[in-house]
Amino acid sequence: MTDEATTTFERSLRGRLIRSTDADYDTARALYNGMIDKRPRLIARCVDAADVITAVNFAGEQELLLAIRGGGHNGPGLGSCDDGLVIDLSMMKSVRVDPESRTVRVDAGCTSGDVDHATHAFGLAVPFGIVSTTGVAGLTLGGGTGYLTRKYGLTIDNLLEADVVLADGRFVTASRNQHDDLFWALRGGGGNFGVVTSFLFQAHPVKMVYAGPVFWEATDANAVMRAYRDFLPTAPEELGAFLGLKAVPSMDPFPREHWGKRACAVISSYNGSAEDGENAMAPLLNAVPPPIFNWMSAIPFTAMQSLFDGFFPKGLQWYWKGDFVKALPDEAIDTHIAQAAKAPSELSLMHLYPIDGAVRRTAKDATAWSARDATWSMVIAGIDADPSRADALKTWGRAYWKAVHPFNLDGAYVNFMMDDEADGRLQATYGDNYARLALVKAKYDPTNLFRVNQNIEPMAT
Ligand SMILES: Cc1cc2nc3c(=O)[nH]c(=O)nc-3n(C[C@H](O)[C@H](O)[C@H](O)COP(=O)(O)OP(=O)(O)OC[C@H]3O[C@@H](n4cnc5c(N)ncnc54)[C@H](O)[C@@H]3O)c2cc1C
Repeated sequence: MTDEATTTFERSLRGRLIRSTDADYDTARALYNGMIDKRPRLIARCVDAADVITAVNFAGEQELLLAIRGGGHNGPGLGSCDDGLVIDLSMMKSVRVDPESRTVRVDAGCTSGDVDHATHAFGLAVPFGIVSTTGVAGLTLGGGTGYLTRKYGLTIDNLLEADVVLADGRFVTASRNQHDDLFWALRGGGGNFGVVTSFLFQAHPVKMVYAGPVFWEATDANAVMRAYRDFLPTAPEELGAFLGLKAVPSMDPFPREHWGKRACAVISSYNGSAEDGENAMAPLLNAVPPPIFNWMSAIPFTAMQSLFDGFFPKGLQWYWKGDFVKALPDEAIDTHIAQAAKAPSELSLMHLYPIDGAVRRTAKDATAWSARDATWSMVIAGIDADPSRADALKTWGRAYWKAVHPFNLDGAYVNFMMDDEADGRLQATYGDNYARLALVKAKYDPTNLFRVNQNIEPMAT
């Protein structure tokens, strides 16, 4: 790659090209996960689809490794790469809500908080995840689970259309009516098929919710996990409720006598009135010992969506392991509790996110995301601010996963995987959809230009 080629590339962008010699290079390359330290050769801060086309063509011509960065939240840092070109979409932030059709057009650099902010004004929301700084692009392309999932499905189940720059530089719109094979693959197949520049989502009426965390002492975890397991299938779908094995944060307003102690939590959001929400939670709360605290109350949905943001600032060390979970036998619960008790840091956690309800009403082969007969998506996350704790986080996460995996399904949510999974893990994740994904990959990206991701290799034809 000559300096001249790079300069020509730079001049053809409306956005900025950042080089390793630029003063803000380290800031620009920093990822959400402080455990990952990648040094790209160039970062193209694209501001529109034209910039993205130019950057994809440049990477192809120069045979540069290419990474696509949405929100930069990915666990193994797949929004960046060493010694290649990063297409950084973080400047592309437009959100346009159409209150008539209840749809929202979202640029690929938006976080879920950007979209929630825009839709909330219209009393609407799209199902996204539980931390508002997460990028919409990576979350959506991997599937997307959150508080609204039981009622309205995964984020991809609410995707109507995506604008995509393909490996050969062509710009296409994928939907049920156009490039339907690409649209199928984008819904769960990650960043394998092109650079999405804009998404069109279906939104739903959501404004005030009855929501918040309920925490119990670790000694009650067994009773709470069993009760939660039995309660969930009976709970109304308006209630999104995930279970966590975590610690009570050592900060106000948490009760001081519990600071830093391991605990069990159910964190819920009921889309409806406080009275209906209380009624929805009652069967669970009546079946278990009194909690340390129950902070559920009527709050704006946007407040719930950003509830965790303050606990998880950019730059912490994260090590992720995931699985899909069909059932939680008593023995699995005992194993979870024993492993969670060994957590190497206060922030380390295990979460079980429901993927029942509306998720199951879409057929397994209707989108690339195929784990629709599971009940939860499990994540074990070793988290700490101190980089010297990285090995301890990994050791704990791997041991915990190894102990509980025999109770779980073979595959895992691609957005909860690092890049050290065993061979065959992606095939297990996509099941019968894998071969079709590899064919779509061969059609749209035959040379595997888009390979910095949970990679699906093009099927040889
Ligand atoms: C604190 C935290 C909380 C989370 N909570 C949830 C949750 O509640 N629910 C949930 O489902 N997930 C959750 N996740 C996981 C999250 O979905 C993934 O980390 C996801 O990869 C983040 O997307 P991003 O755009 O921020 O990531 P990036 O690192 O920018 O990109 C991730 C991947 O997506 C690809 N990609 C990004 N943008 C594009 C694009 N425009 N076109 C094509 N490919 C693209 C990249 O190539 C890369 O492979 C959470 C993550 C964190 C760190």
